[in-house]
Amino acid sequence: MLKNIDESKNSMIRATIVLKPSRETSLKRRHLWVFSGAVAQVEGKPEVGDLVRVVTCQHEEIALGLYEGDSIFVRILTFTPDLFTSEEDLFRERLNAAYRLRLALGLIRSDNNVYRLVYGEGDGLPGLIIDVYGSTAVLQAHTVGMYRRRTLIAHILQGDFPEFGIKAVFDKSVMTLPETMDFATVNSYLVGEAIEEPLFENGLRIAADWLHGQKTGFFIDQRENRALVAQYAKDKHVLNLFSYTGGFSLYALKGGAAKVVSLDSSKRATEAAAQAVNDNFEEAIAARHDTVTEDAFEYLSGLTKGTYDLMIVDPPAFAKRRGNIRNALSGYRKLNALALEKVASQGFVFTFSCSQLVSLQDFRLALLTASLDAQRPIRILRQLGQAPCHPINIYHPETEYLKGFLLYVE
Ligand code: SAH
Repeated sequence: MLKNIDESKNSMIRATIVLKPSRETSLKRRHLWVFSGAVAQVEGKPEVGDLVRVVTCQHEEIALGLYEGDSIFVRILTFTPDLFTSEEDLFRERLNAAYRLRLALGLIRSDNNVYRLVYGEGDGLPGLIIDVYGSTAVLQAHTVGMYRRRTLIAHILQGDFPEFGIKAVFDKSVMTLPETMDFATVNSYLVGEAIEEPLFENGLRIAADWLHGQKTGFFIDQRENRALVAQYAKDKHVLNLFSYTGGFSLYALKGGAAKVVSLDSSKRATEAAAQAVNDNFEEAIAARHDTVTEDAFEYLSGLTKGTYDLMIVDPPAFAKRRGNIRNALSGYRKLNALALEKVASQGFVFTFSCSQLVSLQDFRLALLTASLDAQRPIRILRQLGQAPCHPINIYHPETEYLKGFLLYVE
């Protein structure tokens, strides 16, 4: 039986979660998750997604949050409930604050209309992602609590703040909601409908297909790193591994690369990359671009050393679960050893891990061992991370996930 989601129950505090003695420490340090192991008792019968109060064993109120009842038991919405008259008020304030930050970051311009508006715990809205593509916002709920509030969120985005310029809101939560959920979902427009309009990142025309593409359609988190590639690309032979729709390749061409190859195992991705290049550049420059649809490991294995003097290595997350970390690290080691072995002398490698579970130190160690395996000495020129429209919540370290290095290979 599928349950109906009753949105009318939002905004009412439905239960009180009592913590075990001294288990409030992490919340007092402003971490946003209450784990099930910290919970002594649940007073009331909350449903997943309900607003709940979290109290210490002395019944001192600490926070309000959304109930999940899983190993993450509650995600905190606010430590200062008195500041808000209603849940709607809180959402309105948080969405507005998120927008102001992106505005202050200079991301909202006629030549840059693609950015992440809400980065979950990084923007005080746990479990919610919103990416903006021109006048369309693409929403992904990672929790039932946020999913239950999607209509409210969509209406605030589109109706309450005309300056946001949002005319349509597309919900793409089917893949991100917990598997344990017992109701049916479809991806659909909550407000408005498909809008044809040009999308730009730093003046480059990009195509984002939120209906069929990965995530919300584009990897916005790499914006700053792509811009950095442009700075290093002049006259270089560039290999963009795991290119997806060719984001890094566009910047390399803009930076004056002599040759750029976009490689992805997905044909749909390499076709989109070729199209993106044609959309942006005149024929003479577009002719410097090629695509390869192949497995990255196989391609690198067969490659002649020195063919490329700049490589981008941006694979999908190798570790999606805690149990996979070891395998993930050996995957990063193997992949990077291949890239380091094959890049030209005095070459540059931009290498990334987007696995939240793999720490910066572990990734760095994997690169160290990869360089020993490849017998190619490396130096770190820059440490790289996620674009600032994915702000890291210092109290909630899980918000840091993308790490990268620009390596110089002797
Ligand atoms: N760098 C991209 C994002 C990469 S997403 C950007 O800036 O937009 C990861 C990509 O890796 C996906 O497009 C996926 O199709 C591709 N991929 C996954 N496994 C692969 C493999 N073994 N070899 C080549 N490509 C792979």
